[in-house]
Amino acid sequence: MLLLVAFLTFASLWAQPNTATVLSAIDRDADRSIALLEKLVNLNSGSYNIEGVKAVAAVVEPELKALGFATRTIPLDEVKRSVHLYGERKGRATKMAKPVLLIGHLDTVFEKTSPFQKFERKGTQATGPGVSDMKGGIVVMLSALKGLQAAGLLEELWITVFLTGDEEDSGDPLAVTRRDFIVAGQAAKAALCFETGVRRGNLDYATTARRGYVDWELRVKGVAGHSGGIFSEKLGHGAIFELSRILNEMHENVREPNMTFNVGMVLGGNSVQPKEAGSGSVTGKVNIVPAEAMARGEIRALSLEQVARIKDKMHGIVASKNLPGTSAEIKFDDGFPPMSPTGGNKKLLAVLNEASKLAGLPELGELDPMERGAGDISVIAPYVDSLSGLGAIGTGAHAIGETVDLTSIPRQAKRAALLVHLLK
Ligand SMILES: [Zn+2]
Repeated sequence: MLLLVAFLTFASLWAQPNTATVLSAIDRDADRSIALLEKLVNLNSGSYNIEGVKAVAAVVEPELKALGFATRTIPLDEVKRSVHLYGERKGRATKMAKPVLLIGHLDTVFEKTSPFQKFERKGTQATGPGVSDMKGGIVVMLSALKGLQAAGLLEELWITVFLTGDEEDSGDPLAVTRRDFIVAGQAAKAALCFETGVRRGNLDYATTARRGYVDWELRVKGVAGHSGGIFSEKLGHGAIFELSRILNEMHENVREPNMTFNVGMVLGGNSVQPKEAGSGSVTGKVNIVPAEAMARGEIRALSLEQVARIKDKMHGIVASKNLPGTSAEIKFDDGFPPMSPTGGNKKLLAVLNEASKLAGLPELGELDPMERGAGDISVIAPYVDSLSGLGAIGTGAHAIGETVDLTSIPRQAKRAALLVHLLK
């Protein structure tokens, strides 16, 4: 920590003259940033809109090229998605041993079928699909890089940029669609994610931790027969009572701090037929002991150890003390891993706060991980110090009416530019 403080003090002493140039360049760029945001938002790029995501990449790629980045798109046909966009710039005067990785995503949750398609400005606010999650973040990232370029500071830096094309609904399997992304994360000294920033009252927040998620599916089998025979040795208690027992025991015994688990769907009866998209059907009668029951849900947790502990507890409840005549089985499907609140991530927040001070802006708070869902940063956070929430600040992400505070674009760009500068 002492070393960090010494480093920061040293950095702030000589950074001053260039800092002013960075800040004024970002202020001058503010109107152009809003125009670029409008252009990006008006291009539909729902995760399934292959051409739309490519069109957004085709707008961002020349922006990176103009800043001296070598760029390429990475096709995702293999996982039925569009493209990722990758860029790299190694300045001539850089002494960095590893690059700083800037990340974000090109897609949004709003497909072509959504009624929410257009950018609309209302004073200092704007609404539109992806306006804060996270086309606003892409604009913040570009504006920060332009500020650094204007002050001649890009030459001292080694920066990689990775914008995924399928963050909101990732192609399957994750190991394939995030292959190059993970390689970029492993090669970096720090990863900075430009997902939506958060503001509460007068305080902006950054994210040092996000919970990961695991889907689970519970299947229970019973013995079908006449309802008059339930609880008998021959028929047992039926699949639905056993499902209820398991869910109730989970409800009573699995909860702990920094995690949640949800039961999102239940089916039970003589036979059950779940469908992938979240629907399902059952057959059953009031006078038949049910032979099948199932539940689906997810776990959100803050560390891999916590995930393992919760899986164990749930497994224990499912596997022991089954009601007579029933058996049960639970399967887990790992989604995004957690971004744990490591010391390295917290140090990055300290450097961000130093950058914020250099920019003449207030300190940022550390967001409660319970308030943030899983995201791309989580996939690389196990390998590299990571910080998220550096993008434009807005509300209502993933819902029609999503809003961005346009004044947050230069504010966040200034912080990001000086953060990257301090990490060189
Ligand atoms: Zn997002």
